[in-house]
Amino acid sequence: MHCPFCRHTDSRVIDSRTADDGLSIRRRRQCPECGRRFTTTETASLTVIKRSGVVEPFSREKVMSGVRKACQGRPVTEADLAVLAQQVEESVRSSGIAQFDANEIGLAILPHLRKLDEVAYLRFASVYQAFESLADFDEAIAELREHPEVQPNPASIIPTPSQE
Ligand SMILES: [Zn+2]
Repeated sequence: MHCPFCRHTDSRVIDSRTADDGLSIRRRRQCPECGRRFTTTETASLTVIKRSGVVEPFSREKVMSGVRKACQGRPVTEADLAVLAQQVEESVRSSGIAQFDANEIGLAILPHLRKLDEVAYLRFASVYQAFESLADFDEAIAELREHPEVQPNPASIIPTPSQE
């Protein structure tokens, strides 16, 4: 890697660490010529095929802007959206697949958005699951009522004494 200061054609890695919950690796480098240090970030490429057929890099900002519309008027903050976009990226990256349809990204957003805000979830689901009638909404709402998000129960993480 070229030194960004003196354009020397080589640099030495002096430290590597994972960042962003393991999604990227940051390397601290030093130029053997001028001695200056700089940082590079390495991530696996992840691409999205849009409905138009255009392939573009996965973007958390695009996830956020898509979800932001569904969250209008809802108590969802920009920080919530940023966390959601990171969760979506983690879930698609953990699949080990490097290329997705835009629609698959939309579907990957749904479970995370549901935890965040059920109204925004319904709005978003109506687009991504192509709701065609009120019956589709009824079904989705019934599903939300029947399977409310299970809240972590502090009692369940206390180990039960084993039988002697
Ligand atoms: Zn240099």
